[in-house]
Amino acid sequence: MESGELFRLIPKVDRLLNTPEVLEAMGHLPKRLAMAQITTVLQEIRQGIRAGEIVDPSELELPLVVERVLKGLRKVTKPSLRKVVNATGVVVHTNLGRSPLPRKVMEDLIEIACGYSNLEYNLREGRRGNRFTHVEDILKELTGAEAATVVNNNAAAVLLSLDTVAKGKEVIVSRGELIEIGGSFRIPEVMKRSGARLVEVGTTNKTKLQDYESAITPETALLLKVHTSNYKIIGFTQSVSNKDLVSLGKRYSIPVMEDLGSGCFIDLSQYGYEKEPTVQEVVSQGVDIITFSGDKLLGGPQAGIILGKRDFVERIRKNQLARAVRIDKLTLYTLESILRLYLDPARAKEEIPTLNMILTPFERLEKRARAILRKLGRIDTKNFQVKVMEGISKVGGGALPALNLKTALIALIPKRLMANEIEVFLRNYEPPIIARIERDIVVMDTRTILKEDMGFVVDSIRAAASL
Ligand SMILES: *Cc1c(COP(=O)(O)O)cnc(C)c1O
Repeated sequence: MESGELFRLIPKVDRLLNTPEVLEAMGHLPKRLAMAQITTVLQEIRQGIRAGEIVDPSELELPLVVERVLKGLRKVTKPSLRKVVNATGVVVHTNLGRSPLPRKVMEDLIEIACGYSNLEYNLREGRRGNRFTHVEDILKELTGAEAATVVNNNAAAVLLSLDTVAKGKEVIVSRGELIEIGGSFRIPEVMKRSGARLVEVGTTNKTKLQDYESAITPETALLLKVHTSNYKIIGFTQSVSNKDLVSLGKRYSIPVMEDLGSGCFIDLSQYGYEKEPTVQEVVSQGVDIITFSGDKLLGGPQAGIILGKRDFVERIRKNQLARAVRIDKLTLYTLESILRLYLDPARAKEEIPTLNMILTPFERLEKRARAILRKLGRIDTKNFQVKVMEGISKVGGGALPALNLKTALIALIPKRLMANEIEVFLRNYEPPIIARIERDIVVMDTRTILKEDMGFVVDSIRAAASL
């Protein structure tokens, strides 16, 4: 049909606005929201006619156009932050919300979220309490630290600690630890913000105790160690142990702080992974202030944990800035519940998804991959070939960058469709499935696909097969 005639067949704005479906979807929403959707849809249709993509008048029938408007309206009323399936194999995926939380904990959270709680109320004494008491004892129990407190995230923990102990003073850091973490969190910048002056010592690959010692002046307020979370220097390297740094600090009465990045309570070397010091070990080495994230290896909610000697933790808590980075009750409850799971490490490994995913052995993942293939059954498609392949997953979140976890992948090997077409289709699926392209093959890593999401993966492959 000629485009002039097609243009005349486009449903009018008023007609669309007054269909029962649109009226119902609008409810008491402001009319301009529906108007905006209608305008967008009509613009797209006109564009489509002009470009010769719409040639059939049946594409302009009222129900079809109404459906497009409704789809737009649903998008406006639904939160844009939504569930996706992480098939990337990166367990602590910063872009995909880092650590998933145990469903059981979140079900219990509803009670706290939808009602009142003893957040800052001492039930025994019937008067005002302190929100940090809910996590302090359990943190002390798990780590052996004298005192503990929590803030919004580890970046805040570092900032607040530096501001408290080193504002206007000098902080000595090894040049090998002046790191940038994803999202451009740079240690030197954070120092500047906290008002501390950075004194760099040593070289990129080697820093000796003597380097720290000769940099000490009457202005030195802190010896800082920073975990080089997201990279590894290999070859000729040397750094100073916490033990040596702590005894140096003692001699000069200067505290030692370590930003551990992703603190872990469980020694992963017992599962054959490379040795990373646990939080307990760092505490026992006598480090005065230790900070780490709640949602990296710990597998909890976004939070920053500060542990150490009592007088430092107390000063940190009293800092006026602490209020600005205060943890909220939902996070606090979630963090407390996760920490309590760690009282029984075997249970923590089972119930904390991040830990569980990191520790799942290859054999079990391979079984899972085969089960997905079985569920898929025989699919007859020219679009791609489906196979189980071996691959590598990563911990992510800047933790254990050198660790390669052997994994089982569902591989979609392109035939009629190209790899990026398959990837886009999966990403636009409901729920979106975030896969990876590796050497022109679309791969979905079974390590990070949650059990409850297996069905979505199967259905999405089937849908892509019948494109
Ligand atoms: C991740 C990380 C941070 C920042 O922690 P967030 O919880 O993301 O704020 C700071 N320092 C190190 C060494 C890290 O690895």
